[in-house]
Amino acid sequence: MANKLITEGFNQLPIKTQESVSAPSPLCVVCQTDDKSIACIPCGHLATCVPCGYSLRNCPICRKQIAAFVKFTYKALV
Ligand SMILES: [Zn+2]
Ligand SMILES: [Zn+2]
Repeated sequence: MANKLITEGFNQLPIKTQESVSAPSPLCVVCQTDDKSIACIPCGHLATCVPCGYSLRNCPICRKQIAAFVKFTYKALV
């Protein structure tokens, strides 16, 4: 007689996943500490702070190779 009682798999706690970030954040996508401050050229994505940007060879957003950077500051108008 195979009267197997399945008990596993029923004690899973609802896992609270990190809320997907849909709102644009001013923080660098790499270090999440500093403000984004350079845009990748040629794709134009503004994603990282200066030190993180210079350490990358490809855009963290679209993976395109970075040919140059343009300094940009969110707080430029403050
Ligand atoms: Zn950074
Ligand atoms: Zn890009």
